[in-house]
This record gives sequence, C-alpha cells and structure tokens, in this order.
Amino acid sequence: MTFRRQGNLDTSGVSGGGGGRGRGVAVGGGVGGIVVVLIAVMFGINPSELGVNTGALGGGGNMGTDASAQQFQEQIDSCTLEVANTDTVCRIVATTESIEDVWTAQLPEQTGMRYEQAHTNLFSGQISTGCGTGDSAMGPFYCPADNNVYLDPEFFDQVLAGQLGGSNAPASQMYVVAHEFGHHVQTLLGDIQRSQQDPQGESSGAVRVELQADCYAGIWAHYATTTAAPGGDLPLLESLTESDIDEIVRSAEAIGDDHIQSLGSGRVDPSSWTHGSSDMRRTWFVNGYRNGSVDSCNTFDAQI
Ligand SMILES: [Zn+2]
Repeated sequence: MTFRRQGNLDTSGVSGGGGGRGRGVAVGGGVGGIVVVLIAVMFGINPSELGVNTGALGGGGNMGTDASAQQFQEQIDSCTLEVANTDTVCRIVATTESIEDVWTAQLPEQTGMRYEQAHTNLFSGQISTGCGTGDSAMGPFYCPADNNVYLDPEFFDQVLAGQLGGSNAPASQMYVVAHEFGHHVQTLLGDIQRSQQDPQGESSGAVRVELQADCYAGIWAHYATTTAAPGGDLPLLESLTESDIDEIVRSAEAIGDDHIQSLGSGRVDPSSWTHGSSDMRRTWFVNGYRNGSVDSCNTFDAQI
C-alpha cells in the first residue's frame, strides 16, 4: 500500500486520549422506547481465551494519562501523507480519512443514506468512553453510543502479529481500522443491535454482524484507490496490491474464533463463537473486496 506523497492530510478525524471527546450520548436508558445500544463491539480478542497477560498492552488498570494522550495528539498533529507510509500512528490517521472518503461516497450511492463521520481515538491503558471504560487489553473496539473507534496502536505488533500470528503489515493495520468503521456503518444502517440480540454461536447475530464488518472493510479496500479525497481528484491511497490483500487475509484468518480457541484452550467450540471462523472471516472480507457492494454483504440472509 502507498499513500500519495503530496497533498493535504486531514488529521481532525483522529484524537489522542479521547476521554470526554465523545458526542455526549447519555449512558443508560432509551429514547422513545428505542433502546440505545451501549455495549461496545470488540475486535474479537478475548484475552482470557488466549491466557495472555492482559497487562501486555499497558492496560492493567491505569487510566490513559494526560501525558500519553498529549503524546498521541502531538504525533497526530504532525502527520503527513508521506509519513503515513512509514509510521503506524500517521497510517491510522490517513486510513481514517480514506475510509471516511469511501463511505461518504458509497453509502448515499448504494443505500440512499447520508454518511455521518465517526471518530478514531488512540489510547494506551484505559479510556473513558460512551460505552464505559475501555481497556487496551480488549483490543480495538467501536462504541455505538458515541460513534467512536478506540485503538491502542500497540495492538498490531503485540497481539495481532505477536500473539495471534497475524500480519503486522501496513495493509493489515488498515483492515483493522476499516473493520471498526464497518461497525459504524452498521450503526448508521440500524443493524448493529443484531449482535446483542443473539450474541453467541456459529450462525448467531453476533457472528453475522462481525462478518458483515469484515465485508464492509472489503468494500473500503475495493474503492480506496479510486475514491477522490475532498477538494481534489486524487485518492489518498495510491496503491493496494494483491500482496497487501494477502496480508489482510492472513490477519482475518488469525482472528478467526476457531484459531483463537485452538491457540488458547486447544478446544474449538462453535457454540461459543462471537466473530466467526478463519474461513468465514476471510470469505466475507474477500466478498466485499471483490464486489464492492453493500448488498453483497448481507450476512443476515446469507447461508454463512
Ligand atoms: Zn468487530
């Protein structure tokens, strides 16, 4: 993957720390009988299944300090497109903008619905969110109550590649961000709550929601190199090659429930799956990538 070296990068979609930057959605209660979905949607890493030290990511009870929030913010503010080719934090910033560009164009075109921007927060340790306290050890997550994505950049190297044997390649990192934004699109389309209505099992609502987020990440990959950034004709992302897609697939397989279970207890139990098997996750990402259509990501009616 390569971001083009020239042109503006809008860094306003990403913040360091994040606590208090939510959109002020009250926790608890519902509006007019509609229950507000408050439970965060996790990336699918359950540390207890892996038997890992949950302090590995700087979690373990420390609230993200103002110093670490400020450090992230300074890094974010200094990001350019060129640096996004080599630096993880800046890559998350540029990827956030690339994903928003794709959905701003595709959501209205494909569904008639206007895309509303989400926001990415980089943190280390713990963070206060509209869905309660987030922890680095939970892995990246999306909170439907405040429309924010939360991510500790250490996750890629330490957990995704280090513990799960996935890929830490740039494209793989971008897939993780695009998956979380997939949950944002599901929130806008009103599908996200299907996850909590039927939270477990190989063909559960939860698994279908997760596979759809993988498929939506594929839609981003489909359009990323052809969607113009605002104020110009050029996309932010210049190239996304087949070997980049291979890295993404490697990570999609690494975070399959069956793979995680076999690494942990060694026992694969589909009745407890929440995100889908390695095969399912690969299949749905590739489906979105090849077809680029929201309709082709209808995991709710499909045989999965
Ligand atoms: Zn997810």
